[in-house]
Amino acid sequence: MNIGQEILDKLKDEITEVEYNRYIKYLSYDSKKSTSDLALFYAPNALVLNWIKSKYAKKIAHLFEVKSGNKVTVQIVLKNTTEKRKTKKIIEAKQGSSLLNPTHTFDNFMVGGSNQFAYAAVKSVSENAGKVYNPLFIYGGVGLGKTHLMQAAGNVFQNQGKVVIYTTSEQLLNDFIRHLRNHSMERFQEKYRKCDVLLIDDIQFLSNKDSIQEEFFHTFEALRGAGKQIILTADKHPKKIGGLEARLQSRFEWGLVADIQPPELETKIAIIEKKCEINKVKLSRDIVNYIATVIDSNVREIEGILSKLHAYSQLMHIDIDLEFTKNILKDQMNENRENLTMDKITQVVAKDLNIKPSEIRSKGRSKNIVYARRISIYICRELTQNTMPQLAQYFGMKDHTAISHTIKKINDLIQNDEDFRVKIEELTNKITSSS
Ligand code: ADP
Ligand code: MG
Repeated sequence: MNIGQEILDKLKDEITEVEYNRYIKYLSYDSKKSTSDLALFYAPNALVLNWIKSKYAKKIAHLFEVKSGNKVTVQIVLKNTTEKRKTKKIIEAKQGSSLLNPTHTFDNFMVGGSNQFAYAAVKSVSENAGKVYNPLFIYGGVGLGKTHLMQAAGNVFQNQGKVVIYTTSEQLLNDFIRHLRNHSMERFQEKYRKCDVLLIDDIQFLSNKDSIQEEFFHTFEALRGAGKQIILTADKHPKKIGGLEARLQSRFEWGLVADIQPPELETKIAIIEKKCEINKVKLSRDIVNYIATVIDSNVREIEGILSKLHAYSQLMHIDIDLEFTKNILKDQMNENRENLTMDKITQVVAKDLNIKPSEIRSKGRSKNIVYARRISIYICRELTQNTMPQLAQYFGMKDHTAISHTIKKINDLIQNDEDFRVKIEELTNKITSSS
């Protein structure tokens, strides 16, 4: 057996069998090209490659050093380029183009308390172009569905044979500059004034760009005067954008200004189910719930996770189960949760359960304190990188076995006590959507 394979076998003892079978198993060692200070491995595709690089490369290097006494550079490269192309395609497909996305429809948009106002406003505009709210201004945080809603209206108009222009304000600015340079401003004006519906996404980027604002003002006036529908989105209310000409800002508020808030748990679940249906990904109910509770409000992130899950399961021919999902999500969460602290978690739990954070960390044994403590420990374990000893210290428990005992207890409760499980989900959702 070659040394590379020996090392991989050794690694088997240090990680779980599941991890080994899912990732490490697919590595192959190149004994011809490897040298005493370089270990060359091949990964079957970019996803496995990145995964192994970030999670196991250091460990592999360490095992080499232990075995050979040399400091060894571990290099993991793609086996062949066909896989590379496949991955690239997935990414390209995700990024999409600036045209209307045909899956951005009203039917595919899941409505909940957080977005029903914006939904109703856009829907109503789509049924009465230029007549009800003009302009319609939608604002809200990243990934909450502004572009989706705006394009849903765009798709309706397009199906009615109307001329729809969808553009981001950045593209609009580029187009403006290009025409300015080519001395073809009439063409620019003609293009934007000729349409039936103008959709401009992320208008906040026009902030402090005076000349385009001037030009856009006239376009706006012309379109509105002719009863043509205008829909705008931004990350903030027009008043808060700043660097906008006063006359533009006030016009943005002439029609209707509607906000979108981060989705509640049920809406997130509905969105995930919808996305699975569209992308033909099959996930069980517990996986959907898990993703919905753990992932932030940003829906775009949910999509990233689904496509990652999908890609892995396709490329590696495995079914997606809860543990696999947790693995995929852990990396994503680590990036997001760096700022999430145990203090923050206990604060949210304490506030929700009407006790003091200090009580959660005390030795108090009353029923509600124990309840709050269990929940906090569990969520800290799931959402932060703290080790069991660190958790023990923070929660004033004897040692890590006390923590591991508590976690076992909580897992039992989650299995058998529906109310408890729901409470954990609810609080996790609260914590992640406010982080
Ligand atoms: P924004 O423009 O607000 O940053 P997007 O409209 O690009 O967000 O939404 C990000 C992704 O999330 C899109 O793929 C969109 O389809 C999806 N999405 C957001 N909200 C919903 C929803 N309520 N129902 C279905 N999909 C949604
Ligand atoms: Mg957008």
